[in-house]
Amino acid sequence: MTLLKFIRKEKNAQNVYSFIFEAPDDFRWIAGQFIQITFPHDNPDSRGIKRFFSISSAPYEKKVMVTTRFDNQNGSSFKKAFYDITPGTFIESTLPKGKFIVDKKDKKIILIAGGIGITPIRSIIFDLDHDNNLKDIDLLYSNRDNDIAFKEEIENKRHNNFLFNIYYFISPILIREETLSKIYEVFPNCYAYVSGPPAMVKSITDILYSKGMTAENIKADYFPGY
Ligand SMILES: Cc1cc2nc3c(=O)[nH]c(=O)nc-3n(C[C@H](O)[C@H](O)[C@H](O)COP(=O)(O)OP(=O)(O)OC[C@H]3O[C@@H](n4cnc5c(N)ncnc54)[C@H](O)[C@@H]3O)c2cc1C
Repeated sequence: MTLLKFIRKEKNAQNVYSFIFEAPDDFRWIAGQFIQITFPHDNPDSRGIKRFFSISSAPYEKKVMVTTRFDNQNGSSFKKAFYDITPGTFIESTLPKGKFIVDKKDKKIILIAGGIGITPIRSIIFDLDHDNNLKDIDLLYSNRDNDIAFKEEIENKRHNNFLFNIYYFISPILIREETLSKIYEVFPNCYAYVSGPPAMVKSITDILYSKGMTAENIKADYFPGY
């Protein structure tokens, strides 16, 4: 356990906000990892006072950033209280962990994000760019509408990286087998990272298996609760 000091929040899209924290010097993470935050608040609902969040910032950015979507109608007591967190507040967090990290780069990497599932992928893209390694990477980013979190800053990473491609899938267009087959005429020998709501992650990983990919080349981050 450690304590993170809240600095400020930033709006990334309609109902999507990033929360930026200062961490102790010994707080280290690998791009793609997550933390669990404990945030006691008045009258917590049955969903409780703890939440997992991927760290959406890359380690070189120093500040710890988590990004989440707010549901105006059915939002949890946690999210309502967290939205109003005041600068200077210390929150309890676990140390970062998780295997949704880029540990091999000897093949093409396909990053697939469903909505807020972009969070660990933003961290990975920024980290690879910082290491001059954002090459032979495709981002497939699906979203409910055209108000896409981190769109501009991720697109900016293409300026120096011609081998970084982005494909958007805006609802009702989904990432389907036919579309994947169009992008990849022969399905590439690659690593795939899939992150987002459980139903979306399951349907994409099923497609990837049907295309002949194996479990050792697929990493999945399921965000329950969406
Ligand atoms: C490894 C990991 C990493 C994650 N990273 C992120 C991240 O980076 N960003 C992020 O936003 N989330 C992330 N999540 C998911 C996150 O922990 C929450 O589950 C998610 O944000 C939903 O939050 P919430 O329960 O406060 O619901 P809210 O966001 O307030 O509401 C979401 C919707 O779920 C419905 N809902 C869900 N559960 C219930 C319930 N029990 N009762 C009633 N309605 C319900 C609500 O009606 C509402 O429509 C991650 C999860 C894991 C496991």
